[in-house]
Amino acid sequence: MFTSLPKDPEQFMQLDWTRLKPYTDDLLQRDLNASSLESWVMDWSDLSRIISEIYARLWVATTLDTSNPQVTERFNTFLDETLTPFRAADQELKLKLLSSGLQPAGFDIPLRNMRQEAEIFHTENLPLLSAESKLENLYDEIIGAQTVEWEGKELTAAQLQPVYLSLDRSRREKAWRLANNRKLADRQKLNELWVKMLSLRSQIAANAGFQDYRTYRWKELLRFDYTPADCLKFHDAIEQGVVPVALRIYEKRRQRLGLASLRPWDLNVDPLGREALKPYQSAHELVEKVSAIFNRVDPQLQEYFEIMRQKGLLDLENRKGKAPGAYCNNYDMVRLPFIFENAVGLHADVATLLHEGGHAFHVFEEAHLPYFHQLPVGMEFAEVASMAMELLSSPYLLASEGGFYSEKDAARAQIEHLEEQVLFWPYMAVVDGFQHWAYSHQQDAANPDLCDQQWAKLWQRFMIGVDWSGLDDLMVTGWQRKQHIFEVPFYYVEYGMAALGAFQVWRNALKDQHAAVAAYRKALSLGGTVPLPKLFETAGARFAFDAHTIHEAVSLAMDRIEILEKV
Ligand SMILES: [Zn+2]
Repeated sequence: MFTSLPKDPEQFMQLDWTRLKPYTDDLLQRDLNASSLESWVMDWSDLSRIISEIYARLWVATTLDTSNPQVTERFNTFLDETLTPFRAADQELKLKLLSSGLQPAGFDIPLRNMRQEAEIFHTENLPLLSAESKLENLYDEIIGAQTVEWEGKELTAAQLQPVYLSLDRSRREKAWRLANNRKLADRQKLNELWVKMLSLRSQIAANAGFQDYRTYRWKELLRFDYTPADCLKFHDAIEQGVVPVALRIYEKRRQRLGLASLRPWDLNVDPLGREALKPYQSAHELVEKVSAIFNRVDPQLQEYFEIMRQKGLLDLENRKGKAPGAYCNNYDMVRLPFIFENAVGLHADVATLLHEGGHAFHVFEEAHLPYFHQLPVGMEFAEVASMAMELLSSPYLLASEGGFYSEKDAARAQIEHLEEQVLFWPYMAVVDGFQHWAYSHQQDAANPDLCDQQWAKLWQRFMIGVDWSGLDDLMVTGWQRKQHIFEVPFYYVEYGMAALGAFQVWRNALKDQHAAVAAYRKALSLGGTVPLPKLFETAGARFAFDAHTIHEAVSLAMDRIEILEKV
């Protein structure tokens, strides 16, 4: 056993590759047979946990202080000098286990995944995959350079977002047009980048012995439990069951705003002209109240959250030098999560903390699993943990329940959340549908004009209710503004699937919260040891995205909105 391997972060954070390599060498050389199997896998697992945690802690450090070049340098050095050689050794360890024909207990799913990875692995693809990463970085560079001048200041498109909340419509329109016309100026550049990516991806698939990239990517994303045809059926179900409801939501907004037609710059402003919700004054208050909310969902969840609080595993307040956004990361050796966000006093911060809290509880619940390789969970279910937590928490947003709001404000927050979710499914169908078309019509998709046409076709099918007249060029190039399409092909439908799981958990909780939360926690505790349908089933949900499941989720949301509108 690796008794010499330190278990304390203070010590293992000091390890570099020269001190870690002997452990992979040992594993590669050690005789692997039925009697040595368990200790071999445990040693491999511990080593993997340490590497994973060093990576996580160094990466977290870069987000906590973006201004310190030494922190970035330390992270980059780790990537080049430790992670890259470790990955090569890790690949050999996987092959060693696979070729042994041995099956450690609780390893069905990890072995299934390793077999699949080995099946699509092809040495010729290594330089192509790094070329792909470089093209993906190029996309970020193009988008990152998109700034505009607004009221004498140079702003990124994202920094213009607050203007879309303005009650002054002409100001919103001006900002929206400015940002989007700036994006349109890069149309040619992005067209060229897309064509290069498409041809590279098709070559990667061909090298690995697949006819098309979609088939290859399906395997790469470890999608064992659903097919491209299932996704297309999901789109149909959204068209039938969600699009008419989304239209009603847009129509209500149009009427409330008193407009002849709803334009793209009318989608973020509060339709009743209210001030933004201001739920809390300090980060302390945010944490106190969210902790009280978790207590109402399940006292055990509050205990988990309090552990994070005591151990300094929450970094919530926005401050200069922090990276943007929010995340929950896991420290796999100490088996604890870390939550990061940029709280500034808005409802979004509360929602984010509830969401990331769900991810954090996943880490606590799966901490009992012996092997590192049992931890990864498909995003289709990982996001159920977080999205369900937002819904399970919603009754306790009320100040009288320990939360933040008056009845009216709590109702408003929930309505906005539910409407946002309903409106997400049609957009998801456009993004996913576009990629199914592109990678099954690669010749057509290499012609950006045809991409524009296809996007427009999907947009008109799913995104009705908003008037885009006179904005044709902006509408048809929408695919260029979706980072996922360029950087993580096909990775998007997962959010739509997870939302359906989360709604089913919530449905159960409305009948019997205790039983629903118990099932949810049980499913989280399985980590990645069972297939997706089993995870959903354990959580009290069906892994399905048919018309019935969609209809049930949307009806639940709309019925609840109707009740909340009367508060
Ligand atoms: Zn999430």
